[in-house]
Amino acid sequence: MLSVIISHAPLGINGRLISVEVDIRRGIPGIDIVGLPDTAVREAKERVRVAIRNSGFSYPADRILVNLAPAGIRKEGAAYDLSMALGILAASKQIPFDITRKIMVLGELNLRGDVRSTTGVLSAVGCGLENGTNYFIVSKENLREAQGLKGGEIFGISSLSEAAKIFSGITKKNQLKPEKCDPVPIPISSDLYLNSSYGDFSDIRGQEFMKRALEVAAAGRHHLLLFGPPGSGKSMSVSRFPTILPQLTKKESLTVTRIHSLAGILPDCTGLIRYPPFRKPHHTASKEGIIGGGALTGPGEVSLAHEGVLFLDEAPEFNVSLLQSLREPVEEGKVTIVRAGSKLWFPASFQLILAINPCPCGNLGQKGLACICTTSEIHRYWKKIGGALLDRIDIRIPLQAVPAEELVGEKGESSAKVRARVLRAVNIQRQRYRGLGFSWNSRIPPGQLSGFCTLDKQGMLLMAQTARKLGLSSRACHSIIKVARTIADLAASAVIKSDHLLEAAQHRRFGDNDIFWNFS
Ligand SMILES: [Zn+2]
Repeated sequence: MLSVIISHAPLGINGRLISVEVDIRRGIPGIDIVGLPDTAVREAKERVRVAIRNSGFSYPADRILVNLAPAGIRKEGAAYDLSMALGILAASKQIPFDITRKIMVLGELNLRGDVRSTTGVLSAVGCGLENGTNYFIVSKENLREAQGLKGGEIFGISSLSEAAKIFSGITKKNQLKPEKCDPVPIPISSDLYLNSSYGDFSDIRGQEFMKRALEVAAAGRHHLLLFGPPGSGKSMSVSRFPTILPQLTKKESLTVTRIHSLAGILPDCTGLIRYPPFRKPHHTASKEGIIGGGALTGPGEVSLAHEGVLFLDEAPEFNVSLLQSLREPVEEGKVTIVRAGSKLWFPASFQLILAINPCPCGNLGQKGLACICTTSEIHRYWKKIGGALLDRIDIRIPLQAVPAEELVGEKGESSAKVRARVLRAVNIQRQRYRGLGFSWNSRIPPGQLSGFCTLDKQGMLLMAQTARKLGLSSRACHSIIKVARTIADLAASAVIKSDHLLEAAQHRRFGDNDIFWNFS
């Protein structure tokens, strides 16, 4: 007899549905798994055999053929264990089977017959729902994640025998009610990224100009560059940046959770991620680790930072080709990866924050300190970031070391206060750009800029003067206008006024051909 159960291969953001077909017929006892299985999938035969016996069922003494279709896709990992085991039980008539019931089964088995969690469950459920699957059997640890999409009937189980009971219930037509839902206590870490270890915005003393720049960057999701000597508080300030970001929308939250689940870094029993992720990869990270691809099946750092922040501290320390490859995600909001002959993609629309010393020794432009770098060393240092990437950074902020009297000064505004202002500006944008495929001032396509960023006569005159004076390219002008749009939104002003433009130009201190090394 033949049984068919639905499973899922986590390839790219959507993945692919996999049919697990099991055929049992008389012959020399044994099992074959075909359809491009990797070692872990091939080893499933041993786990499945022992788990079936230890769960009180009998393992058929016949010829078993397991086909994982479509055959062209490589099947990896242990997530097919449970579907194979149930397929064998169904094909050997130990549990009922009904071809018209579409049931997706995900879970890894151990020898006792216990079911363990797997990665990419939210993506699998999404893929299943889109393709008309109504029933889902997942491990209890994955239940809350699977319920994120609010569709289909989802059952959380912890063993093969429980799964067999649910499977029979579904097949014997509605004899069963959905499992009670919170079997495992919910850890506090469901707000994975709003974590008290970030500190509070009020910890940043002085540096009023920089704090304002962080607020503007947060409000319009503008890419940001901070450069200044060691001790000017770059890393400390950026690490508090996530605390002024508003919650994700439901749609953003689903995508972010999906990506983190595919990477296998979503803790068990977690629901949806509600706050923007903050990723700070180390400069020794490989290009595959950051962009994705290579031996990595899941998403890279740029995708884990989707709808959140990618912070590169000491940015010139990163590999040059890696920095250059950030251009694709920065421009397109996604990355395409070629893997095992197929092209996969992951979303990667993040806010880039770079922190850089002004020069290799760090002293350039500092009062009372001497820089020992040569001009060509400084040029080389900055060139690593590259003009093309720098060009896409709307806000560039030079910093000085904080004077001692400011360090002991009064506490600044709290994260909650700043976040409330940011949220107001974000809501204005979400409303304004509804249904247009983008939701941030920094992402307005060049062709639509004039439609959303109206300047008054005075503003236009001012923009023309500034462009002439600083020798700005048209991209730089657009960038200033977009930042001014955000500043106007923070002030709840429908029109962009001259003040807003002037402040925006201040946040882009250095023109395209006039970066810090021209300091004199
Ligand atoms: Zn130097």
